[in-house]
Amino acid sequence: MRSDTVEAMSASASATDRVRIKGWLDRARAVTVLTGAGISTDSGIPDFRGPNGVWTRDPNAAAMFTLQSYVADPAVRRRAWRTRGEHPAWSARPNAAHEALVALERSGRLRAIVTQNIDGLHQRAGSSPDLVVEIHGTLSEVQCLDCGDRGPMRAALERVAAGEEDPACLGCGGILKSATISFGQAMEERSLRAAYRAAAGCDLLLAVGTSLTVHPAAGLVDVARNAGARTVIVNGSPTPYDDVADAVIRDPIGEALPALVTA
Ligand SMILES: [Zn+2]
Repeated sequence: MRSDTVEAMSASASATDRVRIKGWLDRARAVTVLTGAGISTDSGIPDFRGPNGVWTRDPNAAAMFTLQSYVADPAVRRRAWRTRGEHPAWSARPNAAHEALVALERSGRLRAIVTQNIDGLHQRAGSSPDLVVEIHGTLSEVQCLDCGDRGPMRAALERVAAGEEDPACLGCGGILKSATISFGQAMEERSLRAAYRAAAGCDLLLAVGTSLTVHPAAGLVDVARNAGARTVIVNGSPTPYDDVADAVIRDPIGEALPALVTA
């Protein structure tokens, strides 16, 4: 047991703690960052699962996102297509926290960004797409549930704008859906493997803006710890991993992250 684990015992890091945590970041050679909805709220994208989340306040809204109802009910698909075009991600801009991770990459210490977000803001900020693992998929592409063919979301939204309420796969006529992971839908094996490799192969795991309640993302903290990595949590509210993390920072993410990773 490292003596640093005492950090986790305080509710949040003090100024002295933050200097020490920044030292860990500075000395780390392979940082894997796990990001959740909290990193994108400053960009105007609501947190669906948080205390004030869309799904927390209106559980019925979540029904639209179960794979079973999407496949079974054309009305659910029509509603989903209408809302996809209005998703805040289309007009959102990356914020200071996304940009801080671009700086971390430039410093040569970033192993990977494993994200639960589907908004594409890491790539838009300038993070290398090769280093971003989107375990919950992406809103920027569609996938056919029958033949698996993928294509750009924008082309599908143009078909919706032109009058198709539920555009079908142009290859096989199957049901098209955003290439995001719905409730009841299995995750992409390839992304999961990449996420586990990134967690097992880092010397510091930085969990940012994630409640760490949704698996397998939450389990990546255990994977990193078992591999001997330090774990630092930056989140506005408590997580089930606060007690085992080496440090917990409660400051606003848009301030905490730039302070931690920039020289
Ligand atoms: Zn198809």
